[in-house]
Amino acid sequence: MHKMTKLELMLTGKTESHIHWLSNNIGIHHEMLSSFNQLQLAAQSAGIELTIASGFRSFERQLSIWQNKFSGISAIKDTSNQILSTENLSEREKIHAIMLFSALPGASRHHWGCDIDVYAKNLLPAEQPLALEPWEYQASGHFYPLTVWLAEHAKTFGFFFPYDKFRGGVAQEPWHLSYLPLSQHYQQAYTEALLAETLLNTDIQGKALLLQILPELYQRYIINIAEA
Ligand SMILES: [Zn+2]
Repeated sequence: MHKMTKLELMLTGKTESHIHWLSNNIGIHHEMLSSFNQLQLAAQSAGIELTIASGFRSFERQLSIWQNKFSGISAIKDTSNQILSTENLSEREKIHAIMLFSALPGASRHHWGCDIDVYAKNLLPAEQPLALEPWEYQASGHFYPLTVWLAEHAKTFGFFFPYDKFRGGVAQEPWHLSYLPLSQHYQQAYTEALLAETLLNTDIQGKALLLQILPELYQRYIINIAEA
């Protein structure tokens, strides 16, 4: 195994040296701070309190999400929000079911710090928990004004929606914004070989099959995103 470069560590969530912490648990890429602040201010003047639900996520955090879903500690849901009974699934089906909503550790765009999940704090009804589900962002949902505003303005500040619609890989995520000036660079630098090496060095559930079908997973879930 070769010694990973700084960029490779960053791409796979193994360092947080590029992260500026906005609070205890929300961090974003320090080079994105000014553009994010401008986006947030512009939204504010349109009456929208644009808030980050999830920013940087480490490799370890993503690994624990994976392990919990794979082992059945956390529920795996389908697109109609039903909990899947995993005992009826093959290992391969389980991998695909998890990857609809959760990235492989080492392959989450949240490792990069330039991808964030957002919502509008002031549009969330009192006593309603944030679900981060598409219905909240659709025409009859409480975040619809945010959806409309972002569709018109996000691009001006350098942001785009990599998961704008379902393409057969990751589910639609209308809350997931990516800061293109950084993410296009990271996307280009990221490779299947880097992910393979990362998984090979990880004690992860489903490892043998993951490595075996990695080319298919890479195509279907990782590079299968919207054009910026
Ligand atoms: Zn996200």
